[in-house]
Amino acid sequence: MLLEPQEESRMQHFVADLLRYEDALVEPIEPEGLEVLAPPDVQRALGMGELSRLGFGATMPSGAQRVGMEGDWLDRFARLLGSRGRWSRRVLTVETKAPNDPERLLGHELVLDNATYRLQSVTPAWTRYLVMDFRASAVSDDKRDFITRVGVNLATGALPDAVILALGPFLDRLEVDPVVPGGIKLPAMWNRARVVDLVGRALPVRLNVALDPFVKGLRRRLSRDQDRLHRYHNDLHHEAMHRALGSPAGDPKRTREEQRAEAIAREYRAKLDDLARQYATRVTVEWVQTLELVVPVHRFAVQIRRRKADRMIALDWNPLARRLEAPMCEATAGMERPRLVCDDALHLVVPAGLAPCAGCGRAFCRACHAVCPKCGVHG
Ligand SMILES: [Zn+2]
Ligand SMILES: [Zn+2]
Repeated sequence: MLLEPQEESRMQHFVADLLRYEDALVEPIEPEGLEVLAPPDVQRALGMGELSRLGFGATMPSGAQRVGMEGDWLDRFARLLGSRGRWSRRVLTVETKAPNDPERLLGHELVLDNATYRLQSVTPAWTRYLVMDFRASAVSDDKRDFITRVGVNLATGALPDAVILALGPFLDRLEVDPVVPGGIKLPAMWNRARVVDLVGRALPVRLNVALDPFVKGLRRRLSRDQDRLHRYHNDLHHEAMHRALGSPAGDPKRTREEQRAEAIAREYRAKLDDLARQYATRVTVEWVQTLELVVPVHRFAVQIRRRKADRMIALDWNPLARRLEAPMCEATAGMERPRLVCDDALHLVVPAGLAPCAGCGRAFCRACHAVCPKCGVHG
């Protein structure tokens, strides 16, 4: 895979910065390359000689090694970085004017199919996000690497994917200060178990989205290969059966052709198993880094009403992304809309979180119950 021109130069900048930080001498060379004089520890970590040339573009400088997302370069850089940069904190102090027309913002973001709600107040507040990056590798007859990001708002528990995505460019550009201004109240840091539990639910959903094009490609090729196998064996089987039926029952020729047809069917099943093994995909995920991001927000206090019950929730409006964050699905941590509200605890869940039980058909809330309360059958 070749990198997009923009990623290419970002990769080159990253490598140049990292190598200079490690006391290597680095000179840009054309086209899109670096000439590096590396000290011994850098040579060891990156598996390169004292003097080497690295190339990042489609055209390589002469005598250069290609550096990219593929191959083991990311692992080599990780070796050089060690644990540095894996945890960082940024405090963004920005001018925060309250959003215009909060009712309209809320109406756009909070879509409940079986409940009503009322906005009670909008107040300035601070929050912190944990923005966690994971590297996933999917390996089958092909291999791909992905970076998947999960961000959580520690004050509201929201998983605001759209806001986190929109914040991306700000993180590089804004002047930041690692010190939280005095007198502000931040939500408490979550303990490890709570973060791990959330990541365990939020990451698979997001990985599936990231993996989708890769998996679709595999499925397409698998189904094409299955069709080809089927056509081939079907024709052979058909011919053998045709020949068998041309002789009377009990005739040795007929028996021989029937046995041949059985052997063809067995071979077909074995070939199908081989294909399934060939396309089986193994996905490994590794935590890369966490950014703690402290940001002023405007907090919406919203009352959810379902039948005779009500419940208060908080949603933050982020002034950098200029967006209100959707509430987290309390059952699946999924991203789709709308949300439904459960009867017992007024949990906000995606439709799958209130779907009928696979065993008895009764709908139940997956945030209230791990298994169906009526029949005890999972799902
Ligand atoms: Zn059930
Ligand atoms: Zn519930």
